[in-house]
Amino acid sequence: MPKQRLNTDPDQHGYFGSYGGMYVPETLMTPLLELSTAYDQARKDSDFKRELNALLRDYVGRPTPLYFAERMTKELGCKAVYLKREDLCHTGAHKINNSMGQALLAKRMGKQRVIAETGAGQHGVATATVAAMFGMECVIYMGELDMERQALNVFRMRSLGAEVVPVTAGQKTLKEAISEAMRDWVTNIRSTHYILGSALGAHPYPRMVRDFQSVIGKETRRQVMRIAGRLPTAILACVGGGSNSIGIFHPFINDRKVRLIGVEAGGLGIRNGQHAARFAGGKVGILQGTKTFVLQDRNGQIQLTHSVSAGLDYAAIGPEHSLLRDLGRVEYGHVNDREAVDAFDTLARWEGLLPALETAHAVAYMIKHADQWRKNDVLVLNLSGRGDKDVQQVAAWKQEQQR
Ligand SMILES: *Cc1c(COP(=O)(O)O)cnc(C)c1O
Repeated sequence: MPKQRLNTDPDQHGYFGSYGGMYVPETLMTPLLELSTAYDQARKDSDFKRELNALLRDYVGRPTPLYFAERMTKELGCKAVYLKREDLCHTGAHKINNSMGQALLAKRMGKQRVIAETGAGQHGVATATVAAMFGMECVIYMGELDMERQALNVFRMRSLGAEVVPVTAGQKTLKEAISEAMRDWVTNIRSTHYILGSALGAHPYPRMVRDFQSVIGKETRRQVMRIAGRLPTAILACVGGGSNSIGIFHPFINDRKVRLIGVEAGGLGIRNGQHAARFAGGKVGILQGTKTFVLQDRNGQIQLTHSVSAGLDYAAIGPEHSLLRDLGRVEYGHVNDREAVDAFDTLARWEGLLPALETAHAVAYMIKHADQWRKNDVLVLNLSGRGDKDVQQVAAWKQEQQR
């Protein structure tokens, strides 16, 4: 009997199996349900789809190429390595696929103001960009520590006309920025749409963000069939909240022979507070509206996280990933800071491409596990973003190592 088709769409309450849901205070239920209804209508509306596709083509620069990485292929001893070039999207990463979709939805809902959280700053830049393009007011919440680590992106957002608000609570990073954005949303529901940046948070965000990012996988499928004439052996992507990975994985979920591999941040090693590998050290819990794998201590307190890459530095993973892991459909691994920084250099030298530090985790995994790849294997790596934003961070990291 053929295996049953996997359907990982959430149910009407937003559950992917036992994960996901809407764990929010009463005040947020109304805007979330309103958003849910608006999104359900929009995704079935051919005008919405046509308008979004035109913007993705003419403004974002889609389709992005699937590039045959010849030197990398030789080094890894397989048949072909292809890089899905999300680094070539306008603003330098995949984030804008989602920001564009949500901004268009906000416009449709009659909202003139958008807000967002940002970690590394990529989502903030993408959101500030589309807000400028649509003529919307824009406020970005960013942890004070991240503002220091990513000063260039703060400058970009302000140049685009966005207000960047420093968040000084807790670890002063992404988690606190999300809490602040939620607080703003509750107080300004009428005028404001919250553009959440990853496949995280309460329903309908994990599903909506996944849908907007699935353009990556849909294009990849067409391109690899055309160029290689077959499906890939494996697809690799880094996993922060999980949006670039779910975006490229999703259209391949029912191609059971295609291995799907997600790579988390191993930080300084899998010890309390020193990494962000939720599937290596986490357990099921609730964080910021969703039930999923979370890094927490025995009392359920959220643990500190660490990664050299701000975009992977978060205590929870998108709920659909937790289901895909339980189902055994996606494999998850992790690499540490050093391996990621080494891979940043390696890809730069092999292919002339500076990857984002997030992306470098997936590159590192591919290199570290080179013994797994056979000479007939076709591999695809999602090059989620470019590394220009990270050069200072890498330089500082290297200097630190020499002390
Ligand atoms: C934000 C970011 C990530 C991590 O977020 P996901 O939602 O897991 O994709 C990865 N790569 C780049 C370039 C990013 O900017």
